[in-house]
Amino acid sequence: MNTTTPRIAIVGGGLGGLTLARVLQVHGIDATLYEADAARYARPSQGGTLDMHPESGQRALREAGLTAEFLAAVRPEGQDMKLFDRHGTLLREETAQEDDMDRPEIDRGTLRDILMDSVDPQTIHWGKYLTKAVPLTGGRHELHFADGTVETCDLLVGADGAWSRVRPLVTDAEPEHSGVNFIEVGITDVDHTQPALAELVGRGSLYALGDNKGIMPQRGGDGRIRTYVALRTPEDWLTTSGIPYDRPDEARAAILTHFTDWAPELTDLIRYCDDTILPRPIMQLPVGLTWQSKPGVTLLGDAAHLMSPFAGAGANLAMLDGAELALAIAESPGNPADAIETYEKAMHERVLPEARTASHHLDLMIAPDGHLRMAALLDQFAAMDAEGPDAGR
Ligand SMILES: Cc1cc2nc3c(=O)[nH]c(=O)nc-3n(C[C@H](O)[C@H](O)[C@H](O)COP(=O)(O)OP(=O)(O)OC[C@H]3O[C@@H](n4cnc5c(N)ncnc54)[C@H](O)[C@@H]3O)c2cc1C
Repeated sequence: MNTTTPRIAIVGGGLGGLTLARVLQVHGIDATLYEADAARYARPSQGGTLDMHPESGQRALREAGLTAEFLAAVRPEGQDMKLFDRHGTLLREETAQEDDMDRPEIDRGTLRDILMDSVDPQTIHWGKYLTKAVPLTGGRHELHFADGTVETCDLLVGADGAWSRVRPLVTDAEPEHSGVNFIEVGITDVDHTQPALAELVGRGSLYALGDNKGIMPQRGGDGRIRTYVALRTPEDWLTTSGIPYDRPDEARAAILTHFTDWAPELTDLIRYCDDTILPRPIMQLPVGLTWQSKPGVTLLGDAAHLMSPFAGAGANLAMLDGAELALAIAESPGNPADAIETYEKAMHERVLPEARTASHHLDLMIAPDGHLRMAALLDQFAAMDAEGPDAGR
């Protein structure tokens, strides 16, 4: 290792932390990544499908030297989109060309595998849950892990997601409830088990909106349809509603009581779901959150700017953060304070519009007339696209 480079500790091996580790490696800089999960496949599922934006997720993959691997795995057809009202009326439909690489979809698990395979396995230390980080002199930090071990580092990067243990070192801000809760359900091998639902959802995503609710399925590359059932309800509703998530038959019935006046072909996505039913409160950090740069510590991804998924930007931004931070460190290897300042300034600027969009789209879609408001938004996008690239979104 180059002796002028700092000892870098990355806490969290999500898409952001992995991209940082990979791009540092591309530039010949060592880092140690501490991940709470016990092993690579400790989680039963890595989550749904993600659309990769050219200016963020795709750019990060370019910096990581992984474009070829990405292109081999993407599903451009996953950009197909249908919008319904709760009565089952199709309001809008968009069909992607086979070669449309604007925002192609990729399964999150596949993307994580591409990044993970590209990182030197020695870099990742599994089963390391950070409980606290203590500042030392000169920007160094002491890292305390749940297994009782303690490490030190010259540069600490919190890539540890929504409930970051590193965040308190730079800001008092904490995640707040967005006003919307999701319940995630799914149907495996849908072409064979539920062909009518496979046909309804098609190759991409479907949004059925209205009455402050949503049924939002998306097809994955693994033959599964994952559906986010959204309800505008208070933060504690997921527990106070009494839905027994671990008793699937009862849970399905309880969720369906909130959709009695919805078209049965839409609620079938809940009625015929598999046995994994997951409550997911939608949390967000304050829009426009910034902080004064601190020596020796920074944040990326959800740890820095958790936002609702309604802009489809969180994973893309986390990856670009990782790539840009690595580039800043590579630019001034002997001066981590400079690298942090450069990175954070650009990060705060690019995140603000995305955080505003996420908040705006949540209010627009999970609304009494969410179906009409989203139809109007799609018309607006179509008009901008017709005007050409300079119109922008
Ligand atoms: C329902 C839903 C749908 C979404 N859809 C999209 C989408 O379509 N497009 C998009 O761009 N984004 C989407 N997002 C957002 C996206 O999932 C996140 O923004 C992204 O995963 C953030 O990546 P990250 O690396 O910052 O954090 P994470 O993916 O949360 O990774 C954090 C890692 O840190 C580890 N960790 C946590 N705490 C500790 C600790 N104390 N010590 C050690 N390790 C720790 C965790 O185990 C995890 O591996 C969605 C989010 C949700 C909830």
